[in-house]
This record gives sequence, structure tokens and C-alpha cells, in this order.
Amino acid sequence: MKNFLIVGSGLFGAVFAHEAAKRENKVTIIEKRDHIAGNVYSKEVDGIQVHEYGAHIFHTSNKKVWDYVQQFAEFNRYTNSPVANYKGQMYNLPFNMNTFNEMWGIRTPQEALAKINEQRREMAGKEPKNLEEQAISLIGRDIYEKLIKGYTEKQWGRPCTELPAFIIKRLPVRLIYDNNYFNDDYQGIPIGGYTKMIEKMLDHPNITVKLNTDFFDKRDEYLKNYDKIVYTGMIDRFFDYKLGELEYRSLCFETEEKNIGNYQGNAVINYTEAEIPYTRIIEHKHFEFGKGDPNKTIITREYPADWHRGDEPYYPVNNDRNNQLYAKYAKYAELAKKQDKVIFGGRLGQYKYYNMDQVIEAALNAVHNEFGD
Ligand code: FAD
Repeated sequence: MKNFLIVGSGLFGAVFAHEAAKRENKVTIIEKRDHIAGNVYSKEVDGIQVHEYGAHIFHTSNKKVWDYVQQFAEFNRYTNSPVANYKGQMYNLPFNMNTFNEMWGIRTPQEALAKINEQRREMAGKEPKNLEEQAISLIGRDIYEKLIKGYTEKQWGRPCTELPAFIIKRLPVRLIYDNNYFNDDYQGIPIGGYTKMIEKMLDHPNITVKLNTDFFDKRDEYLKNYDKIVYTGMIDRFFDYKLGELEYRSLCFETEEKNIGNYQGNAVINYTEAEIPYTRIIEHKHFEFGKGDPNKTIITREYPADWHRGDEPYYPVNNDRNNQLYAKYAKYAELAKKQDKVIFGGRLGQYKYYNMDQVIEAALNAVHNEFGD
């Protein structure tokens, strides 16, 4: 039996805690926020599950992960079908026959393909040097200017001409009338919310959770008193930024209660013009098909933001500079692992743009490496 300290109660920490406790180890989770569940945290307002840190849609083609999460929650059949608002004109996403019909009035896959190829010709024979050129070479100028440019510039805080081409590797084009955003086999939202799902993972007599507790307030004590630490915070912070700071992107959320039953008719509407400062509005009740107070709704505007020390680091910025720096931190992390003391995991601990299913898979791999079963 080992005495584990888990830093962070997000999905990585919760899965590891559950599995360690099940194998008769003692687990203490410390969480600096005043609630569990990390960024998948949801809270009930007016009978509506509000996704406090941005819209979270569970999707995966990993059957093992899908089966794994079923033990903690029943999932509804929510299918992500976001809509884009460009200067008041609505377009279906992802780019599919509905979008092409709305954009150009065309009706058949052959017409759509011909139109896209005609638009892409602008970049024929040229090597894309930035994100703008890359997007035009993949999908053409009309879609780039109306549905990609403003949104991407808001997300990254820089003009597309100054962003590297690799950010958009491919832009899948669907020549069918299908607005399902994800291609995955399984998709849904846990009924009753993500927090309830994490509560269930942590509901074990071997697990103790301490909220409002920051690892760095008593780091030396923790390192001394526990057999092993599972750390899911920022890896550069763990090593006192001694090799330099990794970059992150942050977000600001503006949540509002509206005295109407249905504000925008869809869970996710992206605002793709540069002049509107937010990237999207989430209307939470549509994740659960209108559950909750019929006369009220909760909406959240999402604003991308630069990250400075002390802000919430929502997204790692996996460009060359940061990946090289992370590789150096990862060497230190490997050393700590070899000394059998610290496991680094999750979006911040591994500096990876993990989706929920990937973070669960990574946590299950860490469990396998630790316990060998
Ligand atoms: P986190 O959830 O960030 O958990 C880490 C926890 O550690 C946090 O609770 C933090 O407070 C705590 N912590 C950090 N440092 C310390 C410290 N020093 N002391 C104590 N506690 C500490 N994925 C999808 O699959 N589908 C989606 O639709 C989707 N949408 C997303 C939307 C947004 C806006 C964002 C930001 C992410 C989205 N994701 C989505 C990704 C998903 O949120 C992550 O994959 C997942 O939450 C990562 O879990 P984690 O445990 O690694 O990290």
C-alpha cells in the first residue's frame, strides 16, 4: 500500500485517484480551486448544468475509454452541431453541404467540389507561408474570410498572416448534409453533469479531497510526507520556471442569466467576424435538450485572452519554441519518475492539448505503468 498525493482534481487526477484507491492505496487529493473536477466542472443553475470553464462535449472513438466512463455516468445523445454567425448570416459547421449551400447557393457535391477547387486555385503552385495562405490553399477565400479569419485572429490574438501555417493542418470538407462536428464513434454529455461524474470517481473510503489547497504552499512537506505525488499542474511552475516560461492561452467567461426560455436555439454559436470580441456564445440548456427552468436560460460569452502568470492556463501553445522547452522539462520529469517520486500528468503536467478522452487514456496508461496490471 502506498500513500499518494494527487495535485489537481481534474479528469487525470480523478481517474488516477479512483484506480489507486481501488487497489487499496491511500489517496489524498489537493485542489487549489474551491471545487473538484478541473476544467470539466459543471454547476447547476435554474436546473441547468452550466459548463463553468467552457463547453465540454465528450467524444471519442476509443471504445475502451467510452466503456470506462460509462461506470461513472450515463451519457445523453447530444451531438455537437455548432452554427457560425458572420455579420448576422448563419452558417452550419463543420464545413459541409449545408454550409456550401448557405455560402454559394449550390446544391450538389459536384458543384461544391468544383467551387472549392476554383477558390483554392488562388494558391496553386505556391507554398503557404502563413495561416492565411494555408487556409486559402485548403478551402478558398470565401470560407476563409467569413468563417476562419476573424475567429482564428481572436483565438490567437494575432493576424492570420502572422500565424504559422501548421496551426491548420487540414480542413476536413464534408460533401454530405451532416452538421455533426465530430467524426467519432461515441459522443454525448453526462446526464446530471460532469461534476457528478467526477464525484462518483472520487467516492471511495480511501480517497480524501482537500479543496482550496495549493501544492506550492507546502511543497517540501508534501514531498516528504507522501510516497508518491501525481502532479497535474503546470510543469514549468513545478520546476520554478528554471528553464524559462512555457506559453499558454487563457480565456475569460461572461455568464448571464436571461429571462427567456430559449436565447439562441443552439448550444454553441461561433461569432466569426473580428469586430465582435467574443468567439462564441454557449447556451447551456441545449446540451441537455432544454432541461431546467422553461422561462430562464444561462448563456456564456467566451473571450480568448493572453496568458500572464497568475491567469488560468487553459491551452498549451504547442509551437516549436514551446515544444522544445517542454522537452527539456520532460527530461527533469523523467528523472523525478525514475526516482519513483513524481508522476506528471494531464494537460498542464504533460503540456499537451488533450481532449477528455485522451486525458483519460493517458491517466489509465499512468495507472498501468504504476501498478503493472
Ligand atoms: P484540468 O482539468 O485543468 O485539472 C487540473 C487541476 O489541477 C485543476 O483543477 C487545477 O485547479 C488543479 N491545480 C493546478 N495546479 C495546482 C496546484 N498547484 N495545487 C493544487 N491544484 C492545482 N475536451 C473534450 O474532449 N471536449 C471538449 O468539448 C472540450 N472543450 C474544452 C473547452 C475548453 C474551454 C477547454 C479549456 C478545454 C476543453 N477540453 C475539451 C479539454 C478538457 O478540458 C481537458 O482534456 C481536461 O479537462 C484535462 O484534464 P486535466 O486533469 O489534465 O486538467
